Amino acid sequence: CGIVAYVGGRTAYPIIVKGLQRLEYRGYDSAGLALINSEVNVYKCKGKVKDLENHAKGKSISGSIGMGHTRWATHGEPSDNNAHPHVSQNGKFIVVHNGIIENYSHLKKELVSRGYTFQSETDTEVLANLIENIYINKEVNAEMAVRLALTKVVGAYGLVITCTDEKDQLIAARKGSPLVIGVGDNEYFLASDATPIVEYTDQVIYMNDEEVAIIKKDKLTLKSIQNDALKPKIQKVDLTI
Ligand code: GLU
Repeated sequence: CGIVAYVGGRTAYPIIVKGLQRLEYRGYDSAGLALINSEVNVYKCKGKVKDLENHAKGKSISGSIGMGHTRWATHGEPSDNNAHPHVSQNGKFIVVHNGIIENYSHLKKELVSRGYTFQSETDTEVLANLIENIYINKEVNAEMAVRLALTKVVGAYGLVITCTDEKDQLIAARKGSPLVIGVGDNEYFLASDATPIVEYTDQVIYMNDEEVAIIKKDKLTLKSIQNDALKPKIQKVDLTI
């Protein structure tokens, strides 16, 4: 339902929590976030962003890369386990997702036959494990694993992904579910609409369908799922979109 993510020099946690609050108007049943540091911390629960804050209270909230999600359940009831982010079985990929992976049960069967087990009933966890399976078997980098996985997916997605082997970057992808990138000074913001971004910057990139962005704090690379280089079009934010 709602996505917020950050990569830059500040502590990501307050930016993500505030961003999730800005997206509350969309409605949701669960909330969660991942903070990437030397370690990765994932906090998620059924309920409101306030419940998520209480859940994270007293725990480590450091990290200047992170992603957050408010979930509107489509596959699997509202629960702590079904809340996003979803972590792949071997802990390599962390994923937040808006939308629906329509062929998830077919993909899930294939992954189960390869030894994967699942912690949730979501279509999103299937995607996290599919990416990881490709990453490990094909020995490709994280971005390529994401693009290859997306060629197998039928459905709609706005995605933010991080790989624990490449902790300095976020990978974003969109098809049928909006994603906006806010361009700051040595920092980038990502969200499913511009409302969480406007207080930090008015320079944005509206991602198009079948685009993938690889985002480090000082570098943004935009390409198609098929690996064609694309030129990011930075424009002034339009809050009517
Ligand atoms: N299909 C996903 C789920 O049920 C994402 C739903 C959403 O867009 O919030 O977990």
